[in-house]
Amino acid sequence: MGQSIFSNLGVILLGHFAMSVLMNHREKIPKNILFFCIVVLFSSVIILLFYLPVQFGEFTFDLRLVPLFMLAIFQCWEKTLIILLIVSVWRFLMGGENVFFGVLFGMVLPTLVALVFDIINKGKRNIYQIIILITICWMISDFPIVLFVPNGKEIFQQLFLIKYISVVLPSIIYYALVLHERKRESLRQQLLFLASHDPLTKLLNKNHFIDIVEEKIKNPYYNHFIAMIDIDYFKKFNDKYGHLAGDQILISIASILKKYESDDLIASRYGGEEFIIYLRTLNSDQAIDTFQKLQNEIRNTSFQIESNLDVSITVSIGLAKIKKGEILHETIKVADQNLYEAKEKGRDQLIVVC
Ligand code: GH3
Ligand code: MG
Ligand code: MG
Repeated sequence: MGQSIFSNLGVILLGHFAMSVLMNHREKIPKNILFFCIVVLFSSVIILLFYLPVQFGEFTFDLRLVPLFMLAIFQCWEKTLIILLIVSVWRFLMGGENVFFGVLFGMVLPTLVALVFDIINKGKRNIYQIIILITICWMISDFPIVLFVPNGKEIFQQLFLIKYISVVLPSIIYYALVLHERKRESLRQQLLFLASHDPLTKLLNKNHFIDIVEEKIKNPYYNHFIAMIDIDYFKKFNDKYGHLAGDQILISIASILKKYESDDLIASRYGGEEFIIYLRTLNSDQAIDTFQKLQNEIRNTSFQIESNLDVSITVSIGLAKIKKGEILHETIKVADQNLYEAKEKGRDQLIVVC
């Protein structure tokens, strides 16, 4: 019996590792393919368990409840219901005594109870709720023993400890494992974000911007542009309203830039009160129009820095087109020179050399 229980647990663990691999690569997998893989993976694990029964006297059971419970708790209801349907049909086709009650009590009802609990709680749960829930699900799944098996009560009493240890305990450990992995994944995402973004404005940082743009400018089909944007008289602004108000302005300007972001336009904080923007267009006039529009929007925005204090800000822009064969840093230098000229000419200007 111990061997069969361990082979059940082995299949469940293998399924969990396969699921972890899928989840770690989920950004690279199209959504519908990922959905399909999860359905196939969970269905295969549960169906495999049907063929690994644990013998207890004349009675047999398996640990199908463990993956079904995890499915209801951690996956969306669509996946859960599709998998539940697949494995229920499979179990029906396998036949056997009392198959209907086995499917109803052993799979459908406990899975639906766990699913409804998760939907009602909107995915919020603690470990105590999980222990109570899995215990309820297991009781529902073993209810037919008491109902339909002769001497069912005695068998249930004898089974109690072994089932509790082999179903409830692995479910709780499995739950803790998934939670741990999710936490680790969320920390990894945060770390990746921090490594590639500016913490104040949440725009891309300079290094990540350069990496992305180096790739984009290889496309010969477009005209590629670099713009350097610098807030005018920002030191004076900080001196007058304080650095916290200055930070607020940087955040607000970043959110204006984010509105313009697309596959064709990428914004980044270059450093201090300077931003760098990459734009690709089909003609040069389009680039000038875009930056004039952006400059106008900033000029016409009332930035609220206190409850009844609105201020206006202007920016100077130096724009340069990436010439054929030119490396990115050379274009940034030209855009910087144009920005310097915009400052020299009185600020709030757009200077461009194409
Ligand atoms: P100009 O029109 O010539 O660009 O004048 P400016 O005052 O904007 O330029 P300057 O280079 O003299 O000063 C830049 C100021 O930007 C100084 C610094 O306090 C401010 N600054 C840079 N980074 C930050 C930041 O993260 N937060 C705040 N609040 N201020 C910043
Ligand atoms: Mg500056
Ligand atoms: Mg400035």
